[in-house]
Amino acid sequence: MKISEKQLQQVDKQIQRLLQVNNFYGQKLREAGIKGVSSVEEFQQLPFSQKQDLRDAYPLGLMAVPEEEVVRIHSSSGTTGTPVIIPYTAKDVDDWAEMFKRCYEFAGITNRDRIQITPGYGLWTAGIGFQNGAEKLGAMVVPMGPGNTNKQIQMMMDMKSTVITATSSYALLLAEEIEKRGIKDKVHLKKGVIGSERWGKKIRDRISSELGIELYDIYGLTEIYGPGIGISCKYDKGMHIWDDYVYLEIIDPKTGENVPDGEFGEIVITTLVKEGAPLIRYRTHDISRIIPGQCPCGSQFPRIDIISGRSDDMIKIKGVNVFPKQIEEVLEGFPELSSEYQIRLSHLDGKDTMRIYVETNGSVNFLEMAGQIASAVKSKIGFTPLVKIVEIGILPRSEKKTKRVIDERYD
Ligand code: ZN
Repeated sequence: MKISEKQLQQVDKQIQRLLQVNNFYGQKLREAGIKGVSSVEEFQQLPFSQKQDLRDAYPLGLMAVPEEEVVRIHSSSGTTGTPVIIPYTAKDVDDWAEMFKRCYEFAGITNRDRIQITPGYGLWTAGIGFQNGAEKLGAMVVPMGPGNTNKQIQMMMDMKSTVITATSSYALLLAEEIEKRGIKDKVHLKKGVIGSERWGKKIRDRISSELGIELYDIYGLTEIYGPGIGISCKYDKGMHIWDDYVYLEIIDPKTGENVPDGEFGEIVITTLVKEGAPLIRYRTHDISRIIPGQCPCGSQFPRIDIISGRSDDMIKIKGVNVFPKQIEEVLEGFPELSSEYQIRLSHLDGKDTMRIYVETNGSVNFLEMAGQIASAVKSKIGFTPLVKIVEIGILPRSEKKTKRVIDERYD
């Protein structure tokens, strides 16, 4: 998806302003000898920015307007080191609400809906983003914030909420709770707008069927406004991205080069009109791809696939980029397997090998099944792995994030 002439002009304007205010970012551009952009080639030469750069600018080094114009800050989670502070002007806040309103409209949500908001409020961008967009739409907001499931469900019934906004894990928890209490007929939900953390088809189907709702994936990150820069439409064929506010590229995370449309890689975002803290070529580490062609809904806004992982998880084997998600999708086709798996890469006799460990119970023919899985993986990624089947419970489990890929090639 090439950057358009108009987008190039917008980026150039951003660069001129950054150079002029000479904030953290302006200095970075100056050091890189950047004076502006007027062509696709020049754009592709612009340096990337990383989360670490944003951390180095802590606390207010990203501010690109006089302080009188800043009306709010948000911060991305500081669980790993220094947080990132993003200043917003009144226009930034309004632009974000406009984008979010458009998200709701793409999901077919109107001012007759009652939107229950369960993501958190505060430094984080989630809750307040959902709220501002809903108010701009004219819908009735039920601003619950996270947790307190009893009250959450009570309000959902009493207020007859028609839309739930949540993370996939919280939506699942609510769905299970509603099922358990047998109160599905007292719940009036029709739609769910779900934050774009990576979630599998099994969870999706479960939430959708237990709550009897349509699900929409929303995308965004605190560094770039927050959630609301794109959403899936009712055809559920990827998320439309608002390219009048942001320009999105997909790069090969190893080489930094743009990949052709349709191929998976890392999402890189450039803000086009942001005032408080513009970002140029910001590496998100989220993995997706541009979906080529036109969406059945007719919208011209470009589409990306739902997020399939983090670039840190990518494996390069025999020159091919492989994401754990692709293997996971193959394994999902085998109902006999548990949800656990492990991928081990090693270098034997001068060539790379991939071993995939999966779990099942004793009732299947291990050898036969291993062969079926290996050929299914081969047809998906073009590479034949060695598949080892083990008894359920053998693979390691952890309460947090289980490490599923072990690369022993460079040990
Ligand atoms: Zn569409």
